[in-house]
Amino acid sequence: MTNLVLKSEILNNVLENKSITRQEIIEVYENSKKNTNDLFLTAQNLRIKNKGNTVTFSKKAFFNIVNLCKDTCSYCTYKAEPGEEKISLMSKKQIKELLQLAKKYKCVEALFVTGEQPEQKYPEARNWLKENGFKSTAEYLIHSSEIALELGLFPHTNAGNLNFDEMRELKKTNVSMGIMLENISERLTKKGMPHYLAASKRPQTRLKILENSGKLKIPMTTGILVGIGETIEEIIDSILAIKQLHEKYGNIQEVILQNFQPKPDTIMKDTPSTNEEYFKKIVALSRIILPQMNIQIPPNLSPKSYQSFLQIGINDWGGISPLTPDFVNPEFSWPEINKVDENSKKSGFNLKCRFPIYPEFFSFINKELRNKIADIENEDGYVKEEYWR
Ligand code: SF4
Repeated sequence: MTNLVLKSEILNNVLENKSITRQEIIEVYENSKKNTNDLFLTAQNLRIKNKGNTVTFSKKAFFNIVNLCKDTCSYCTYKAEPGEEKISLMSKKQIKELLQLAKKYKCVEALFVTGEQPEQKYPEARNWLKENGFKSTAEYLIHSSEIALELGLFPHTNAGNLNFDEMRELKKTNVSMGIMLENISERLTKKGMPHYLAASKRPQTRLKILENSGKLKIPMTTGILVGIGETIEEIIDSILAIKQLHEKYGNIQEVILQNFQPKPDTIMKDTPSTNEEYFKKIVALSRIILPQMNIQIPPNLSPKSYQSFLQIGINDWGGISPLTPDFVNPEFSWPEINKVDENSKKSGFNLKCRFPIYPEFFSFINKELRNKIADIENEDGYVKEEYWR
């Protein structure tokens, strides 16, 4: 592997740590249409060089705090409307009970998810906040994060476009936060496209949030959604935008590559699932563009083949929950952690349970959070086996 010499000069340069231009990335992609070998081998080589044979995951519970959302993305089944059976407006009591249960299941992460600023559109959301004693969803998240920490779980909030002050407050209790870039293309926000009815997904808006997270030094999870009608150039530009942000602020802790899966109750119900060969090329290209970064695919969205992605560049499975569904993709249940462990091993990789913050970002968090991690971390910065197995 280390002496790998490929026919492609561009890929040989990548293996020698030389940076790759946008035009060269497009060329690599075009060449991969004839043969994927060189692309996949390069990605595999970079993965082993930079991440060894470790693959990580975060043991989480998914808190569907409120799924009313002022936006409408054409692919989203998470969002609910008032009166729908799937609506979630978690009370303080429900949050506490789920935290206690998550602790019993030895979860480490409390993933707090909400729709986009629901109180701006729905009286139901305003009433729910009032009943629980809060003025905004962000305030409620700050409170919930404090309770999570008290009960021994580490919060990671993904609540859409929070403002600078809200993020600064949440940083006190959240070891990391998340917001998907999805795609940097303005075209995908035009009429008939997936983000037309989602002002929060305007690329400039999303980039601003990510910039703010950089200024605040918040370890940030972001990523792209693959297969929603984008061009390859738009995908490449999105990955390059993430790379640039990380070069500027150094706070992007991981990049999620999520393959689109159509949902029957959405506008995009008839759009086919992302082609796996195409998705694999995007994964391998991401490793080539971001050789040292953490790259994740959700295993539940490729249930039959997720382990094969270990050979083309990924080093993380993201959050896996033993007790709550994936509310964003409810038709895809999480694989059992034991099974993921077994499949990773069969492919030659060791599964480690990480915190919702990667060890290389520990210096970004405050002393109180760092001490709580230190209580249950092993010598490599992962969760000690007895706290998650
Ligand atoms: S993806 Fe997020 S912003 Fe878009 S409709 Fe769903 S909850 Fe709202």
